Amino acid sequence: MEKEKNLEKIVSLCKRRGFVFPGSEIYGGLAGIYDYGPLGVELSMNVKNAWRREMFRLHENIFELDSSILMQKRVWQASGHTSAGFTDPLRECKKCHHRFRADHLTEQGIDKCPDCGGDLTEPKRFNLLVETHLGPVQDDSSLVYLRGETAQGIYVNYNNVKISQSASLPFGIGQIGKAFRNEITPGHFIYRMREFEQMEQQYFIKPSEADKYFEQWKEERLHWYLDLGIKKENLRLRPHVTGELAHYAKAAVDIEYNFPFGWHEIEGIHNRGDWDLSRHSEYSGQDLSEIDTGTGKRFYPYVIETSAGVDRLTLAFIVDAYEEVIGGRTTTTQSIKEIEVVLKLDHRLSPVKIAVLPLSKKEPLVNMAKDIASKLRKNWNVQYDDTASIGKRYRRQDEIGTPFCISVDFESIDDKKVTVRDRDTMKQERMEIGKLEIYIAEKLK
Ligand code: ATP
Repeated sequence: MEKEKNLEKIVSLCKRRGFVFPGSEIYGGLAGIYDYGPLGVELSMNVKNAWRREMFRLHENIFELDSSILMQKRVWQASGHTSAGFTDPLRECKKCHHRFRADHLTEQGIDKCPDCGGDLTEPKRFNLLVETHLGPVQDDSSLVYLRGETAQGIYVNYNNVKISQSASLPFGIGQIGKAFRNEITPGHFIYRMREFEQMEQQYFIKPSEADKYFEQWKEERLHWYLDLGIKKENLRLRPHVTGELAHYAKAAVDIEYNFPFGWHEIEGIHNRGDWDLSRHSEYSGQDLSEIDTGTGKRFYPYVIETSAGVDRLTLAFIVDAYEEVIGGRTTTTQSIKEIEVVLKLDHRLSPVKIAVLPLSKKEPLVNMAKDIASKLRKNWNVQYDDTASIGKRYRRQDEIGTPFCISVDFESIDDKKVTVRDRDTMKQERMEIGKLEIYIAEKLK
């Protein structure tokens, strides 16, 4: 079996099978913007649900939030996103996307990326935040930003969650939601977009426990990817070096995935120190500090952040699961000369769990198959398909990662049995219709 991956093939599969479409496509598209089609919604929703389960169901002290996209301007002043350092003219490396102060590069006579030697964009006065206006008048007073990260909504609700949930340190607050950034160079499909979705969790702790929890979250997050089937050799942790750390960060590590375009960040784990709660206390005038019961002194909790992107993860899961079989896996049909694609997604992530395929479009097979599909639909996402040859239909399901295909044939009418085909082993098992639900529930557990 030969494997070959490249981004164009993935992009084409995503478009053809309805995972991801270019945004505003009939008007020529919009740079850095994509739409999720029916299968993409399912897949990314499964990614989000796996994260929610891990964070909120398996940790009794992590609480879920859904804060608004629009917040007071002051939030972004406190976070530092609108201060001078963030709006200086910058040049971005087209290759590694690191950004540099244009004036610094000019001073040192540097015209290539100091980190990787890549080409640099022209200098741009750069504020990552996307602006809009609230209310009928468009002036400075009505200016608001679409959030550049979900984390700030968590900090401003720190006291609300803590008090309403009777939480005490250590505890976490997490949320899934859209974020917007005016990226200079969006690209690599859904890897770097201008509108994207984040899954962020902020874990609030005593300062003395920062190193312990930083290590713990690194392990937990890495394990989450492996458990969902990402191949070990395609994942790595990359600690930030001192000069690379954000001004507020005490330590940071990226979880990187080996994409067809190289190793790139999919999630960041950061020790943000007490920057966030101290700044929001200062700017809002509300006290977000805690009391140390031992010394009686007040302190601002430290934050260990785990920050992942839904879109980058969705892309990583697709890339990792994508396999090409040259010459085909099917030996029973004639059309075996082409390349077959199998998306070996973990069952929990597969957008469609079961396909029901009658061997003929005629009655009573169709009725029987539709009846099976509608029963299974109560528990799982099921596709019914009676078009094309059975070989083609199997391949269509393999290509979108459907773990099980159930074929209904002429014998099914007499013996009330169907054939269940496993995506990965291609083994076919004949079984009674009445036993299907238990069998599949067991397999998809
Ligand atoms: P990069 O260096 O690639 O721009 P970042 O370090 O700015 O990323 P963070 O601010 O740490 O990213 O954001 C946390 C996560 O949000 C990232 O790991 C990524 O998964 C996701 N993310 C950030 N920017 C984008 C984007 N433009 N498009 C899609 N996902 C993004």
